[in-house]
Amino acid sequence: MTPVARIIREEILLGGPISVERYMALCLNHYYASRDPLGMAGDFITAPEISQMFGELIGLWMAECWHLLGAPSKGHWVELGPGRGTLTSDAFRAARLVPAFREALDIHLVETSPALRLRQKETLAPAEKTLTWHEAIAGLPEEGPLFVVANEFFDALPVQQFTSRDGEWRQRCVGLDDNDGLSFGLFPSTGLNLELPPCEGKTIERPVAATVLMAELAQRIARQGGIMLAIDYGYAAPAYGDSLQALRNHAYAPVLEAPGEADLTTHVCFQHLADAAQAQGLAVHGLATQRQFLDLLGIGIRAATLIKACPAEADSIEAAKLRLTEGGIEGMGELFKVMALSSPNLVSLPGLLACETGRLHSS
Ligand code: SAH
Repeated sequence: MTPVARIIREEILLGGPISVERYMALCLNHYYASRDPLGMAGDFITAPEISQMFGELIGLWMAECWHLLGAPSKGHWVELGPGRGTLTSDAFRAARLVPAFREALDIHLVETSPALRLRQKETLAPAEKTLTWHEAIAGLPEEGPLFVVANEFFDALPVQQFTSRDGEWRQRCVGLDDNDGLSFGLFPSTGLNLELPPCEGKTIERPVAATVLMAELAQRIARQGGIMLAIDYGYAAPAYGDSLQALRNHAYAPVLEAPGEADLTTHVCFQHLADAAQAQGLAVHGLATQRQFLDLLGIGIRAATLIKACPAEADSIEAAKLRLTEGGIEGMGELFKVMALSSPNLVSLPGLLACETGRLHSS
């Protein structure tokens, strides 16, 4: 039995079944606090770990947004859930091309995992910038515009799940079966209305933690100015579907099999995040697919430049570009979506269409 399985079992024996959201929170806290989950030796790989081009293009995109915001002389680069710190490191190396932007920003990392904070410190040493870590949004500086990036961050936050039974939505929970193993069940109905009507057997997800965090951040951006870029495996509008999955050693595993030892993720419903931001008056841009966004930012040209500088690496640079931009289930180009939220005066951003109706383009 894993250490988290023991805690979960005790909690269920004391108070009865726990929500899927609580199960995810207990598992994810332990999982991220106790390891570096990224890379070939870990459980999964992310876009910045596939190629330096990803972080470089995002760094230059942010520099362009900084210009559009009037090139403020002081502001803050913020990364939510920075993993190994690779994206920010690549972004700041590329930003040497725009020295005034690089000079204007210090670096803030919102990261709960002590293991990953150490890793980020190592990766970011060559950036020669002041680094400050925060447990949560509340700790971020209260003055100066925020330039925020979140790649595969929202998919790592717990969600509530509801399944439709006999015409009602009932929250999904985790309890103990007859053999003392963990199993899924449903709490009694509370007559809750959700974004979609009940449809027998279907599940719907509510990203409460992500929405609360987004609302807090949007409030800051509305007050201090700035922009946020969110990239994640996800979809535009609320839809039926159970997207909760566990990943271990780069393969899918049963969600209840090894609590706290596998990565748990869900697909992100971007409209929930957009609604939280719009409620604070921010402008919404997107969605674009990762492929559309990286193509418009010039990933083709960047790859060609890298290949020219290092012809021996041509095959791996080309393969990384394809992995980031290709469709289908192998590539990240169509499954991953890009959305930006900005101060309301920024009506047009590079690489993304403004979303004037408030309903995200599904691209
Ligand atoms: N953005 C990185 C890593 C994604 S993995 C990349 O693209 O490579 C998710 C990251 O979010 C990890 O760094 C994890 O420790 C962090 N994280 C998970 N839950 C968090 C929370 N509630 N608050 C802050 N960071 C969190």
